[in-house]
This record gives sequence, C-alpha cells and structure tokens, in this order.
Amino acid sequence: MSRVIMSNAFTQDDFLCGCLVTDSERKIVYVNGYFEREWGWTSALLLGKNSDSLFTRSSCIFYESYIVPVLSIQKRFDEIQLALLSAKGERIPVIANARLNNEQDLTFWSLFSATKRDRLYEELVEARNALHEQSLALKALSITDELTGLLNRREIKHRADVILNLAKRTLKPMSLLMMDVDHFKRINDNHGHQQGDEVLQALSQVLQQVARDSDIVGRFGGEEFVLILPNTDAACAQVFCQRLHKGISAMQVTGGPITVSIGISSELIGQKTTFEYFVRLADAALYRAKLAGRNRSVLYSEHDSGQ
Ligand code: GH3
Ligand code: MG
Ligand code: MG
Repeated sequence: MSRVIMSNAFTQDDFLCGCLVTDSERKIVYVNGYFEREWGWTSALLLGKNSDSLFTRSSCIFYESYIVPVLSIQKRFDEIQLALLSAKGERIPVIANARLNNEQDLTFWSLFSATKRDRLYEELVEARNALHEQSLALKALSITDELTGLLNRREIKHRADVILNLAKRTLKPMSLLMMDVDHFKRINDNHGHQQGDEVLQALSQVLQQVARDSDIVGRFGGEEFVLILPNTDAACAQVFCQRLHKGISAMQVTGGPITVSIGISSELIGQKTTFEYFVRLADAALYRAKLAGRNRSVLYSEHDSGQ
C-alpha cells in the first residue's frame, strides 16, 4: 500500500529545489518539476541537452575550471553559487550541491534559488557603503569648522603636533601665524552678524588661496585664524604675511576693505618646543601688532616675552 502512495506522489514532485541529473558527458538525463514551475524549463526542452545551456557563460567557465576537478577528486561539492538561466534568459542566482555517483557515472544536482539571499547580500553591501560614506562625512565634520570649512582648533593642534615632530627630527624650521581681524566687531555692528559671517567665509578662501597645500590653515575661534607653515623660516614667513595682507586688502566684501593683524613665531625647533609654546609666542607678537596700530605682521622677539 505504502509503495503505491509513494509512486503516486512522484508523478508530480513538490521539491523546493531544482533536481538535475547529468551524465559523464554533462548531458541532462533528468530534471524535476521545479525547473518548469520556477524557471520555465520543461523537461522536453532540457533532456538530452548539454547542461551548459542551463548556466551563464561565466558559470560555465567556473564549472569547467573548478567544479569539474572538484567533482572528480572529491566526488561532491557543496554550496557553490552559480548563475542559472531561466527559459526566458533571466539570470537566476542559485546555490548548487552535487554528488558524483561513479557506479552509474551520473551527477546528481540540487539547485536552490538564492535570489533572496543575493538581494540580502546586495542590501548589506549597500548598507555598508552608506555607512562608510556617513563615517567619512562625520569625520570631515569632526575636523572642520562649520562656518568656514577650515580645520577646527582640535584638528589644528593634532596636525601641528605631527608637523612639530617631523620638524624636530629633520631640524627644519617652521612658522606659526596667529591672525586676528581688525575691528571685526564694527562689521557686525554696522552690517549685521550675517554679513560678519560672510566676511569670515571670504577671508577663509583668501587664506586657502595664498597658502600652499602643505600649510595648515585653521580657524582658531571667533575672528582668529592660525596658519602653520612647515619648512618656513622667519624671513619667508614675513614674505608670506605680506602676500596675505595684499590678498585680504583686495577682498570685495560689504563692510570692507578689511585688515588683519598677524603675530609670527618662527624658529628652528628645539626638542622641547610644543604647539602651545608656539601659539603663546605668536599671541604675544599679535598683541604687539595690535598695539602698533593693526594691519601689520609682527615677528615674535624676546621683547614680547614680558607681555
Ligand atoms: P580688534 O581689532 O582689537 O581685534 O577688534 P575686534 O572688534 O576685531 O575684536 P573684538 O574681540 O572686540 O570683537 C570680535 C568680534 O568678533 C566680537 C564677536 O561677536 C565677533 N565674532 C566672533 N565669532 C564670530 C562669528 O562666528 N561670526 C560673526 N559674525 N562674528 C563673530
Ligand atoms: Mg579676536
Ligand atoms: Mg579682532
């Protein structure tokens, strides 16, 4: 009795995978109903054909170069992803398992549709890429000043430390400029805070244009900016400052022209020199530039140490 039920059940199989049998010449000798139900292949279309007609070109190459040797050595393979072609020519990702029966010289395949798995994988890759882009954007935000796009104070310090360490090892000079906009409060008072912001943005662009790629340009806070010039001694830093003053005086902004005062600290690096030390010296020189009437650059000297 049970044998009869079994044989009836097999007239219409209900497997949830494609079952395929190929012979030693890779000819298809059996396909189950799944091929027609899911992929549009009737057994009439497939029986006697080479199994290559079921797969994409790249899967056929993979079959030849990898699956054939694995089958001959291990007699089976598990969970290999292949791309099947439906009867309409659509590409269907499948996971294939197969076993070679040497006595019968037949290979028994089971092919599981992996469309959902493929989609899930693509979504994972998309999510990972989006996260990567977000983390890059966050990183950019965390090191830059929102208003001007220049480096923020924390990042200036971080990069200054790197440059200082290098300068100490190579015994090259470096200069640090502390720059403050003159009478900036008047711009805000006379033209509004928004206009003040635009002046700071325009000024930042000039700083970036005048500076070299290897220079560090940052906003220290408010209307104060810091520039760090690697491999630059006092004389070169002063020439650089003249270019800055010239560029800034040519700025076309409401409330302008504007001027800036700059304090320069510049020297060969002593082993104990720190970023904070350089800033302190430049600050003292800046103070003297303001006292001397603004719109100028002053190089730090021993004279400033009492300020
Ligand atoms: P001094 O020549 O002595 O430097 O005069 P000053 O007016 O530039 O200096 P003061 O310190 O008196 O004023 C600085 C002004 O900068 C006051 C503050 O409101 C303004 N400020 C600071 N940050 C910003 C900003 O992000 N945007 C705008 N619009 N103004 C700012
Ligand atoms: Mg200031
Ligand atoms: Mg100022």
